[in-house]
Amino acid sequence: MDKSWNSRTQLVHGGTARSQWGEVSESIFMTQGFVYDSAEAAAQRFIECGPDEFIYARYGNPTVAMFERRIAGLEGAEDAFATASGMAAVSGALMSMLRAGDHVVAARALFGSCLYVLEEVLTRYGVEVTFVDGADLEQWRAAIRPTTRVVFFETIANPTQEVVDIRGVADLAHGVGATVVIDNVFATPVFSNAIAQGADVVVYSATKHIDGQGRALGGVILGTRDFIRKTVEPYMKHTGGSMSPFTAWIMLKGLETIDLRVRAQAASALALTDALQGHPKLAQVIYPGHSSHPQHDLVARQMGKGGTVVTLDLGGQAQAFRFLNAVKIALISNNLGDTKSIITHPATTTHQRLSDEQRATLGITPGMVRLSMGIEDTDDLIADVMQALDSV
Ligand SMILES: *Cc1c(COP(=O)(O)O)cnc(C)c1O
Repeated sequence: MDKSWNSRTQLVHGGTARSQWGEVSESIFMTQGFVYDSAEAAAQRFIECGPDEFIYARYGNPTVAMFERRIAGLEGAEDAFATASGMAAVSGALMSMLRAGDHVVAARALFGSCLYVLEEVLTRYGVEVTFVDGADLEQWRAAIRPTTRVVFFETIANPTQEVVDIRGVADLAHGVGATVVIDNVFATPVFSNAIAQGADVVVYSATKHIDGQGRALGGVILGTRDFIRKTVEPYMKHTGGSMSPFTAWIMLKGLETIDLRVRAQAASALALTDALQGHPKLAQVIYPGHSSHPQHDLVARQMGKGGTVVTLDLGGQAQAFRFLNAVKIALISNNLGDTKSIITHPATTTHQRLSDEQRATLGITPGMVRLSMGIEDTDDLIADVMQALDSV
Protein backbone atom coordinates (compact mmCIF):
# COMPACT_ATOMS: atom_id res chain seq x y z
CA MET A 1 0.00 0.00 0.00
CA ASP A 2 1.17 3.46 -0.89
CA LYS A 3 0.72 6.15 1.76
CA SER A 4 0.26 8.85 -0.90
CA TRP A 5 -2.92 7.22 -2.22
CA ASN A 6 -6.17 9.06 -1.68
CA SER A 7 -8.83 7.17 0.23
CA ARG A 8 -10.82 5.92 -2.81
CA THR A 9 -7.70 4.18 -4.13
CA GLN A 10 -6.72 3.00 -0.67
CA LEU A 11 -10.18 1.46 -0.21
CA VAL A 12 -9.85 -0.65 -3.36
CA HIS A 13 -6.22 -1.74 -3.04
CA GLY A 14 -5.06 -1.04 0.52
CA GLY A 15 -3.98 -4.02 2.59
CA THR A 16 -4.32 -6.60 -0.20
CA ALA A 17 -2.01 -9.60 0.20
CA ARG A 18 -1.94 -12.07 -2.70
CA SER A 19 -1.15 -15.76 -2.47
CA GLN A 20 1.12 -17.56 -4.94
CA TRP A 21 -1.90 -17.83 -7.30
CA GLY A 22 -2.09 -14.08 -7.87
CA GLU A 23 -5.86 -13.91 -7.37
CA VAL A 24 -7.56 -10.57 -8.21
CA SER A 25 -10.19 -10.65 -5.48
CA GLU A 26 -9.04 -10.97 -1.87
CA SER A 27 -8.92 -14.58 -0.68
CA ILE A 28 -10.85 -15.95 2.24
CA PHE A 29 -8.34 -17.86 4.35
CA MET A 30 -10.98 -19.92 6.10
CA THR A 31 -8.50 -21.63 8.37
CA GLN A 32 -8.30 -21.82 12.13
CA GLY A 33 -4.59 -22.58 12.19
CA PHE A 34 -1.28 -22.55 10.30
CA VAL A 35 1.36 -25.21 9.57
CA TYR A 36 5.02 -24.72 10.46
CA ASP A 37 7.94 -26.09 8.44
CA SER A 38 9.61 -27.60 11.49
CA ALA A 39 9.44 -27.89 15.26
CA GLU A 40 12.05 -25.14 15.44
CA ALA A 41 9.94 -22.87 13.20
CA ALA A 42 6.90 -23.45 15.41
CA ALA A 43 8.89 -22.66 18.53
CA GLN A 44 10.32 -19.54 16.92
CA ARG A 45 6.87 -18.26 15.87
CA PHE A 46 5.59 -18.57 19.42
CA ILE A 47 8.54 -16.46 20.62
CA GLU A 48 8.06 -13.81 17.98
CA CYS A 49 5.18 -13.69 15.51
CA GLY A 50 5.84 -11.18 12.69
CA PRO A 51 3.17 -9.04 11.03
CA ASP A 52 2.72 -11.51 8.13
CA GLU A 53 2.94 -14.61 10.27
CA PHE A 54 0.06 -16.34 11.98
CA ILE A 55 -0.48 -18.88 14.75
CA TYR A 56 -4.20 -19.24 15.37
CA ALA A 57 -7.24 -17.44 13.92
CA ARG A 58 -8.25 -15.98 17.27
CA TYR A 59 -4.85 -14.20 17.27
CA GLY A 60 -4.88 -13.21 13.61
CA ASN A 61 -5.56 -14.46 10.08
CA PRO A 62 -4.46 -13.23 6.62
CA THR A 63 -7.97 -12.17 5.51
CA VAL A 64 -8.60 -10.42 8.82
CA ALA A 65 -5.20 -8.69 8.55
CA MET A 66 -6.10 -7.41 5.06
CA PHE A 67 -9.28 -5.87 6.48
CA GLU A 68 -7.39 -4.34 9.42
CA ARG A 69 -4.81 -2.72 7.14
CA ARG A 70 -7.41 -1.39 4.73
CA ILE A 71 -9.57 0.24 7.43
CA ALA A 72 -6.50 1.60 9.26
CA GLY A 73 -5.41 3.25 6.00
CA LEU A 74 -8.83 4.87 5.60
CA GLU A 75 -8.97 6.14 9.17
CA GLY A 76 -5.37 7.35 9.18
CA ALA A 77 -4.65 5.12 12.18
CA GLU A 78 -1.36 3.27 12.70
CA ASP A 79 -3.08 -0.05 13.31
CA ALA A 80 -6.40 -1.81 13.85
CA PHE A 81 -7.83 -4.92 15.50
CA ALA A 82 -10.93 -6.51 13.95
CA THR A 83 -13.60 -7.87 16.27
CA ALA A 84 -16.64 -10.14 16.11
CA SER A 85 -19.11 -7.27 16.50
CA GLY A 86 -19.24 -3.56 17.24
CA MET A 87 -19.85 -4.35 20.89
CA ALA A 88 -16.78 -6.61 21.04
CA ALA A 89 -14.87 -3.56 19.79
CA VAL A 90 -16.39 -1.13 22.32
CA SER A 91 -16.03 -3.49 25.29
CA GLY A 92 -12.56 -4.62 24.14
CA ALA A 93 -11.25 -1.09 23.74
CA LEU A 94 -12.44 -0.17 27.25
CA MET A 95 -11.82 -3.42 29.17
CA SER A 96 -8.33 -3.86 27.74
CA MET A 97 -7.07 -0.62 29.27
CA LEU A 98 -9.17 0.05 32.40
CA ARG A 99 -8.59 -1.29 35.88
CA ALA A 100 -10.22 -0.91 39.32
CA GLY A 101 -9.92 2.62 40.64
CA ASP A 102 -9.91 4.25 37.21
CA HIS A 103 -12.41 6.96 36.38
CA VAL A 104 -14.27 7.25 33.07
CA VAL A 105 -16.29 10.20 31.80
CA ALA A 106 -18.84 9.33 29.13
CA ALA A 107 -21.56 11.10 27.21
CA ARG A 108 -25.00 10.04 28.43
CA ALA A 109 -26.50 9.56 24.96
CA LEU A 110 -25.11 6.12 24.11
CA PHE A 111 -26.11 3.05 22.15
CA GLY A 112 -27.95 0.83 24.67
CA SER A 113 -25.29 -1.88 24.81
CA CYS A 114 -22.52 0.72 25.27
CA LEU A 115 -24.47 2.12 28.20
CA TYR A 116 -24.71 -1.41 29.64
CA VAL A 117 -20.93 -1.92 29.39
CA LEU A 118 -20.23 1.39 31.12
CA GLU A 119 -22.99 1.28 33.74
CA GLU A 120 -23.22 -2.43 34.55
CA VAL A 121 -19.94 -4.11 33.55
CA LEU A 122 -17.14 -1.63 34.22
CA THR A 123 -18.60 -0.55 37.57
CA ARG A 124 -18.69 -4.21 38.67
CA TYR A 125 -14.88 -4.21 38.34
CA GLY A 126 -14.37 -1.04 40.36
CA VAL A 127 -14.28 1.50 37.55
CA GLU A 128 -16.11 4.72 38.36
CA VAL A 129 -18.16 6.27 35.55
CA THR A 130 -19.53 9.82 35.35
CA PHE A 131 -22.08 10.66 32.65
CA VAL A 132 -22.34 14.09 31.06
CA ASP A 133 -24.32 15.82 28.35
CA GLY A 134 -21.86 15.25 25.50
CA ALA A 135 -22.63 18.43 23.60
CA ASP A 136 -21.88 20.61 26.65
CA LEU A 137 -18.11 21.20 26.98
CA GLU A 138 -18.58 22.75 30.44
CA GLN A 139 -19.97 19.45 31.75
CA TRP A 140 -16.91 17.60 30.39
CA ARG A 141 -14.66 20.22 32.02
CA ALA A 142 -16.41 19.78 35.37
CA ALA A 143 -16.39 15.96 35.25
CA ILE A 144 -12.83 15.26 34.07
CA ARG A 145 -10.41 14.93 36.99
CA PRO A 146 -6.78 13.86 37.54
CA THR A 147 -7.73 10.17 37.93
CA THR A 148 -9.80 10.18 34.71
CA ARG A 149 -8.29 7.47 32.54
CA VAL A 150 -10.72 7.41 29.62
CA VAL A 151 -13.35 9.63 28.05
CA PHE A 152 -15.89 7.89 25.84
CA PHE A 153 -18.58 9.21 23.53
CA GLU A 154 -20.43 8.72 20.28
CA THR A 155 -19.48 11.62 18.00
CA ILE A 156 -23.09 11.99 16.83
CA ALA A 157 -25.76 10.81 19.25
CA ASN A 158 -28.41 8.33 18.15
CA PRO A 159 -31.14 9.36 17.26
CA THR A 160 -31.04 13.03 18.36
CA GLN A 161 -27.88 13.72 16.31
CA GLU A 162 -26.29 16.02 18.85
CA VAL A 163 -22.63 16.37 17.97
CA VAL A 164 -19.69 16.18 20.37
CA ASP A 165 -16.77 18.54 19.77
CA ILE A 166 -13.94 16.00 19.50
CA ARG A 167 -11.16 18.57 19.71
CA GLY A 168 -12.74 20.38 22.65
CA VAL A 169 -13.19 17.19 24.68
CA ALA A 170 -9.79 15.79 23.62
CA ASP A 171 -7.98 18.93 24.82
CA LEU A 172 -9.64 18.61 28.24
CA ALA A 173 -8.95 14.85 28.43
CA HIS A 174 -5.35 15.13 27.31
CA GLY A 175 -4.81 17.79 29.97
CA VAL A 176 -5.06 15.02 32.60
CA GLY A 177 -3.47 12.31 30.44
CA ALA A 178 -6.76 10.52 29.69
CA THR A 179 -7.33 8.47 26.54
CA VAL A 180 -10.07 9.62 24.16
CA VAL A 181 -12.12 6.67 22.89
CA ILE A 182 -14.87 7.39 20.40
CA ASP A 183 -17.63 5.29 18.91
CA ASN A 184 -17.83 6.83 15.47
CA VAL A 185 -20.65 4.96 13.74
CA PHE A 186 -22.89 7.94 12.93
CA ALA A 187 -19.94 9.97 11.60
CA THR A 188 -19.07 7.01 9.30
CA PRO A 189 -15.50 5.96 8.42
CA VAL A 190 -15.79 8.02 5.21
CA PHE A 191 -16.36 11.39 6.90
CA SER A 192 -14.39 10.60 10.05
CA ASN A 193 -11.49 12.84 10.73
CA ALA A 194 -11.43 11.79 14.35
CA ILE A 195 -7.73 11.05 14.85
CA ALA A 196 -6.74 14.38 13.31
CA GLN A 197 -9.26 16.00 15.71
CA GLY A 198 -7.58 14.45 18.75
CA ALA A 199 -9.20 11.03 19.24
CA ASP A 200 -6.75 8.38 20.45
CA VAL A 201 -8.90 5.34 19.81
CA VAL A 202 -11.71 5.06 17.26
CA VAL A 203 -14.21 2.22 17.34
CA TYR A 204 -16.70 1.17 14.65
CA SER A 205 -19.52 -1.28 14.42
CA ALA A 206 -18.60 -2.67 10.97
CA THR A 207 -22.15 -4.04 10.88
CA LYS A 208 -23.23 -0.56 9.82
CA HIS A 209 -21.60 1.29 6.89
CA ILE A 210 -18.54 -0.95 6.48
CA ASP A 211 -20.55 -4.00 5.48
CA GLY A 212 -23.38 -1.66 4.54
CA GLN A 213 -25.39 -4.47 3.00
CA GLY A 214 -26.95 -6.04 6.06
CA ARG A 215 -25.00 -9.30 5.95
CA ALA A 216 -22.68 -9.63 8.90
CA LEU A 217 -21.83 -8.42 12.39
CA GLY A 218 -18.36 -7.04 12.89
CA GLY A 219 -16.33 -4.33 14.53
CA VAL A 220 -12.93 -2.72 14.63
CA ILE A 221 -10.71 -0.87 17.11
CA LEU A 222 -8.25 1.67 15.63
CA GLY A 223 -5.35 3.40 17.36
CA THR A 224 -1.59 3.61 17.64
CA ARG A 225 0.42 0.47 16.86
CA ASP A 226 1.53 0.36 20.47
CA PHE A 227 -2.03 0.51 21.82
CA ILE A 228 -3.44 -2.01 19.33
CA ARG A 229 -0.66 -4.59 19.62
CA LYS A 230 0.31 -4.22 23.30
CA THR A 231 -3.05 -3.40 24.95
CA VAL A 232 -5.91 -4.47 22.68
CA GLU A 233 -4.49 -7.56 20.95
CA PRO A 234 -3.52 -9.48 24.12
CA TYR A 235 -6.95 -8.79 25.63
CA MET A 236 -8.93 -9.67 22.49
CA LYS A 237 -6.98 -12.74 21.52
CA HIS A 238 -7.29 -14.23 24.99
CA THR A 239 -10.93 -13.26 25.65
CA GLY A 240 -12.22 -14.44 22.26
CA GLY A 241 -13.93 -11.59 20.43
CA SER A 242 -11.91 -11.89 17.21
CA MET A 243 -13.42 -11.51 13.73
CA SER A 244 -14.09 -14.55 11.52
CA PRO A 245 -12.09 -14.65 8.23
CA PHE A 246 -15.37 -14.92 6.32
CA THR A 247 -16.69 -11.77 8.01
CA ALA A 248 -13.39 -10.02 7.30
CA TRP A 249 -13.80 -10.84 3.61
CA ILE A 250 -17.33 -9.37 3.60
CA MET A 251 -16.01 -6.25 5.34
CA LEU A 252 -13.04 -5.94 2.95
CA LYS A 253 -15.40 -6.02 -0.03
CA GLY A 254 -17.65 -3.55 1.81
CA LEU A 255 -14.72 -1.14 2.15
CA GLU A 256 -14.20 -1.21 -1.63
CA THR A 257 -17.52 0.57 -2.14
CA ILE A 258 -18.01 2.39 1.17
CA ASP A 259 -16.94 5.79 -0.16
CA LEU A 260 -19.41 5.61 -3.08
CA ARG A 261 -22.24 4.32 -0.90
CA VAL A 262 -21.83 6.72 2.01
CA ARG A 263 -21.47 9.79 -0.22
CA ALA A 264 -24.63 8.81 -2.12
CA GLN A 265 -26.49 8.22 1.16
CA ALA A 266 -25.32 11.58 2.57
CA ALA A 267 -26.35 13.38 -0.62
CA SER A 268 -29.85 11.86 -0.36
CA ALA A 269 -30.03 12.77 3.33
CA LEU A 270 -29.20 16.39 2.52
CA ALA A 271 -31.67 16.53 -0.39
CA LEU A 272 -34.44 15.03 1.76
CA THR A 273 -33.70 17.47 4.61
CA ASP A 274 -33.88 20.36 2.14
CA ALA A 275 -37.18 19.10 0.74
CA LEU A 276 -38.68 18.76 4.24
CA GLN A 277 -37.87 22.27 5.50
CA GLY A 278 -41.03 23.84 6.91
CA HIS A 279 -43.18 20.75 6.23
CA PRO A 280 -46.46 21.23 8.15
CA LYS A 281 -46.57 17.62 9.43
CA LEU A 282 -43.12 17.80 11.04
CA ALA A 283 -42.18 19.29 14.40
CA GLN A 284 -38.48 18.82 13.57
CA VAL A 285 -36.09 17.63 10.86
CA ILE A 286 -32.57 16.91 12.12
CA TYR A 287 -29.59 16.32 9.84
CA PRO A 288 -26.10 17.39 10.96
CA GLY A 289 -25.02 18.15 7.40
CA HIS A 290 -27.78 20.75 6.88
CA SER A 291 -27.47 24.45 7.72
CA SER A 292 -30.59 24.11 9.94
CA HIS A 293 -28.68 21.91 12.43
CA PRO A 294 -27.71 23.97 15.52
CA GLN A 295 -24.14 22.62 15.40
CA HIS A 296 -23.72 22.87 11.64
CA ASP A 297 -20.44 24.83 11.95
CA LEU A 298 -18.94 22.18 14.22
CA VAL A 299 -20.01 19.43 11.80
CA ALA A 300 -18.51 21.31 8.85
CA ARG A 301 -15.22 21.73 10.72
CA GLN A 302 -15.11 18.23 12.19
CA MET A 303 -16.26 16.01 9.33
CA GLY A 304 -17.43 18.13 6.39
CA LYS A 305 -20.59 16.15 5.73
CA GLY A 306 -23.42 15.08 8.02
CA GLY A 307 -23.60 11.30 7.86
CA THR A 308 -26.38 9.15 6.44
CA VAL A 309 -29.23 9.43 8.95
CA VAL A 310 -32.10 11.92 9.05
CA THR A 311 -34.21 12.21 12.20
CA LEU A 312 -37.80 13.42 11.91
CA ASP A 313 -40.24 14.35 14.66
CA LEU A 314 -43.90 13.89 13.74
CA GLY A 315 -45.20 15.25 17.04
CA GLY A 316 -46.52 12.03 18.60
CA GLN A 317 -46.26 8.24 18.56
CA ALA A 318 -49.54 7.72 16.66
CA GLN A 319 -48.37 9.99 13.84
CA ALA A 320 -44.93 8.32 13.83
CA PHE A 321 -46.48 4.85 13.55
CA ARG A 322 -48.80 5.97 10.74
CA PHE A 323 -45.78 7.36 8.91
CA LEU A 324 -43.72 4.16 9.34
CA ASN A 325 -46.62 2.07 8.07
CA ALA A 326 -47.17 4.35 5.05
CA VAL A 327 -43.55 4.45 3.86
CA LYS A 328 -43.08 2.03 0.96
CA ILE A 329 -39.35 1.98 0.16
CA ALA A 330 -37.64 2.18 3.54
CA LEU A 331 -37.87 -1.04 5.54
CA ILE A 332 -39.07 -1.00 9.14
CA SER A 333 -36.00 -2.37 10.90
CA ASN A 334 -33.27 -1.16 13.23
CA ASN A 335 -29.92 -1.28 11.42
CA LEU A 336 -28.41 1.78 9.76
CA GLY A 337 -25.88 2.51 7.06
CA ASP A 338 -27.40 -0.17 4.82
CA THR A 339 -27.82 0.17 1.03
CA LYS A 340 -31.54 -0.34 1.74
CA SER A 341 -33.21 2.60 3.45
CA ILE A 342 -34.33 1.66 6.96
CA ILE A 343 -36.85 3.40 9.17
CA THR A 344 -36.99 3.05 12.96
CA HIS A 345 -39.15 4.33 15.81
CA PRO A 346 -36.49 4.63 18.55
CA ALA A 347 -38.80 5.19 21.54
CA THR A 348 -40.49 1.78 21.10
CA THR A 349 -37.53 -0.22 19.75
CA THR A 350 -33.86 0.73 20.11
CA HIS A 351 -34.53 2.95 23.15
CA GLN A 352 -37.55 1.05 24.48
CA ARG A 353 -35.77 -0.13 27.64
CA LEU A 354 -35.21 3.42 28.89
CA SER A 355 -37.74 5.08 31.20
CA ASP A 356 -39.87 7.97 29.89
CA GLU A 357 -37.73 10.24 32.04
CA GLN A 358 -34.45 8.92 30.59
CA ARG A 359 -35.75 9.32 27.05
CA ALA A 360 -36.84 12.88 27.86
CA THR A 361 -33.37 13.68 29.26
CA LEU A 362 -31.82 12.41 26.02
CA GLY A 363 -34.33 14.37 23.92
CA ILE A 364 -35.89 11.22 22.42
CA THR A 365 -39.52 12.12 21.83
CA PRO A 366 -42.48 9.78 21.12
CA GLY A 367 -42.83 11.29 17.64
CA MET A 368 -39.20 10.75 16.65
CA VAL A 369 -38.40 8.62 13.61
CA ARG A 370 -34.90 7.66 12.45
CA LEU A 371 -34.44 7.31 8.73
CA SER A 372 -31.23 5.66 7.57
CA MET A 373 -30.82 6.65 3.93
CA GLY A 374 -30.02 3.85 1.49
CA ILE A 375 -28.62 4.08 -2.00
CA GLU A 376 -31.98 4.00 -3.79
CA ASP A 377 -32.82 6.85 -6.18
CA THR A 378 -32.97 10.14 -4.25
CA ASP A 379 -36.14 11.37 -5.99
CA ASP A 380 -37.91 8.07 -5.25
CA LEU A 381 -36.93 8.32 -1.58
CA ILE A 382 -38.13 11.94 -1.28
CA ALA A 383 -41.40 11.17 -3.11
CA ASP A 384 -42.00 8.20 -0.82
CA VAL A 385 -41.44 10.23 2.36
CA MET A 386 -43.74 12.97 1.02
CA GLN A 387 -46.59 10.57 0.21
CA ALA A 388 -46.22 8.92 3.62
CA LEU A 389 -46.35 12.34 5.35
CA ASP A 390 -49.51 13.17 3.36
CA SER A 391 -51.19 10.12 4.82
CA VAL A 392 -50.38 11.09 8.43
C1 LIG B 1 -24.63 -0.73 16.19
C2 LIG B 1 -23.83 0.08 17.12
C3 LIG B 1 -22.97 -0.53 18.07
C4 LIG B 1 -22.88 -2.03 18.24
O1 LIG B 1 -22.48 -2.68 17.10
P1 LIG B 1 -22.81 -4.24 16.81
O2 LIG B 1 -22.07 -4.52 15.55
O3 LIG B 1 -24.29 -4.35 16.71
O4 LIG B 1 -22.29 -5.02 17.97
C5 LIG B 1 -22.25 0.29 18.90
N1 LIG B 1 -22.33 1.63 18.81
C6 LIG B 1 -23.13 2.25 17.91
C7 LIG B 1 -23.16 3.73 17.86
C8 LIG B 1 -23.89 1.50 17.03
O5 LIG B 1 -24.69 2.11 16.16
